[in-house]
Amino acid sequence: MSRSERIHIAIVGAGIVGLTLAVTLNALDKEGKIAIDIYEAAPELSEIGAGINVWPRTLQILKQIGLEEMLIPLFDHQPDLEPRIIFGVRKGDQKEGYKIYDVMNNGGALRIHRADFQRSLIKHLPLAGSAAKDINCPCTLHLSHRLADYTSTAPATSTRNIGPITLHFSDKPSATCDILIGADGIKSTVRQLFLSRLPNPQKYERYMEPVWSECVAYRGLVSTDELEKVFPGHRALTHPGLMYSGKTRYVVVYPVSGGKFVNVVAIAHDKTRGGVWEGPWKVDVTQAELFEEYAGWEEEVQALIQCIKKPTKWALHALDHLNVFAKGRVFLMGDSAHAMLPHLGAGASVGIEDAYIFASLLTHASTPRALSAQFTNHLTNIYNTVRVPRAIAMSKATTETGYICNLEASGFEGYKEHDDVPMDLLVKASRAMERNWAWTITSPEEDRGRALALLEDPRAVL
Ligand SMILES: Cc1cc2nc3c(=O)[nH]c(=O)nc-3n(C[C@H](O)[C@H](O)[C@H](O)COP(=O)(O)OP(=O)(O)OC[C@H]3O[C@@H](n4cnc5c(N)ncnc54)[C@H](O)[C@@H]3O)c2cc1C
Repeated sequence: MSRSERIHIAIVGAGIVGLTLAVTLNALDKEGKIAIDIYEAAPELSEIGAGINVWPRTLQILKQIGLEEMLIPLFDHQPDLEPRIIFGVRKGDQKEGYKIYDVMNNGGALRIHRADFQRSLIKHLPLAGSAAKDINCPCTLHLSHRLADYTSTAPATSTRNIGPITLHFSDKPSATCDILIGADGIKSTVRQLFLSRLPNPQKYERYMEPVWSECVAYRGLVSTDELEKVFPGHRALTHPGLMYSGKTRYVVVYPVSGGKFVNVVAIAHDKTRGGVWEGPWKVDVTQAELFEEYAGWEEEVQALIQCIKKPTKWALHALDHLNVFAKGRVFLMGDSAHAMLPHLGAGASVGIEDAYIFASLLTHASTPRALSAQFTNHLTNIYNTVRVPRAIAMSKATTETGYICNLEASGFEGYKEHDDVPMDLLVKASRAMERNWAWTITSPEEDRGRALALLEDPRAVL
C-alpha cells in the first residue's frame, strides 16, 4: 500500500501520550491503512521527572500494544493481581509519626522510571530498527517542529471526501494531514487553535490556559545507598510505597529503577500568592527550602530531604473541565485535553486510554480509508461521548484525593499542622482515598467496547 493511499495522521507532541498513540496505531492497524507523522517541538526526546505509576488497568492496554515484555523487567514488581499496598499512609507532620492505614488494590501500582517508559515506547515506534513485531504504519518522527498554526478547508458537502489540513510550523516548511492529533501537553497550542475555531469561541476562553492549583510539588530522586547511610533501615528502603500525610502538605515515596532509587514527590499547598503563579513552572530550589516546608515532620521525612541533592519545584496547574475534545478532523489527547492534578497518579494513564480508544476506532474494519466529513463527525462524536466524561470524572477524583492527602477534606477543618487527629477520622479519609483508586483494577475494554458499538450504530451519527 503506497503512502498516498493511507489515512495520514499528524501527532503533535511526542510525550508519553503522543508516542503511545503511534505505537498503538501501528499495533492495531492490521490492514495497514494509516501513515503517521509525529511532530515534536524539542530537538530530542527526553522525559523530565523521575517516577511514574502505571496501573493494572493501563497495563492491559500496554499488553495489547506489545509493550509488556519490555516493560516487565523495568517495573518495581512482577505484575499480578495479588492484593498489594499502593501507599502505606502515615501521619507524618509530627515528630513521632505513626501509621494510619495501608491503601491497597489488587496488583498495586507498577512503578517505573519515566525515562525507561519513554525508551520502551520509542523502541516500539514503527521506525527502522523498531522492536515492534510488525511495521503496519509507516511513521516519521520530525524533531524541532513546533506547530504554530493549522488551516483546513471545509468540504463542500458533508459526504465528500475531506481535503487535507495544513500544518504550519515555526521555521520549518508546512505539511499536510487528514487527521490532526493534539498531544502537545498542558500548554497545548493545538487546544488553543481548536477552541478558537469552535462555534462561540468565547465560551471556551477559560479552557485556553491552565489554572494554578495553589499547590507545588517538590521532586527528587534519592539513591537507596545514600538513604541507608543517612538513616539505616529507613522504611522507604523496603516499602512498596509510602505517603507521609499532614496538614496542607504530604510526601509520597516509592522505589524506581529496580530499587536503586526512591522517587520522592512532596506536595505543599501554598496560599500565599493570591491564587496566581508568576514565573517559570519548574525551578531548582535549595534543600533549605524543603527543610523549611517540612519543619517539625517526622525524622524519616527529614532524612529523605537530606538525600535530595538537587530538588526541583513544580507549580501544579490543571485544566478546567473541557467538554469537547474533538471536532471536524482534530482530536485532543492527554494533558492537552484534560491536564489534571497528580494526586491519583493518573494523568498519563487517562491519556493512554484516549490513545487506545481513538486507535481502536480508526483501525476498525468498518473505518474507510477515504474519510468523509460525515464519518469524521461520527468519530468525533464517539470520542467525545466516551472520553470526556471519563476524563472529567478522573480529574474530579484526583482533586478530591489531594484534599484528603493534605488533610483538608471535610472533617479536618479544626486541625492544624502537627496536631493529633483522631484515628477514626484519619482511617475514614484513607478509605475514601482507596475508593478513588478502585478504577485501577477495572478493564479499559468496557469503554473500548462501548466506542466500537457506537461506531457500528448509525443512530450515533448526529
Ligand atoms: C508531579 C507529577 C506526578 C505525576 N505522576 C503521574 C503518575 O504517577 N501516573 C500518571 O499516569 N500520570 C502522572 N502524572 C501526569 C503525567 O505526567 C502527565 O499526564 C503526562 O506526562 C502527560 O503526557 P502528554 O504526552 O499528554 O504531555 P507531555 O508529556 O507534556 O508531552 C507533550 C509534548 O508536546 C510537545 N509540544 C508542546 N507544544 C508543541 C508544539 N506546539 N508543537 C510540537 N510539539 C509540542 C512537548 O515538547 C512535549 O514533548 C504526574 C504529573 C506530575 C506533575
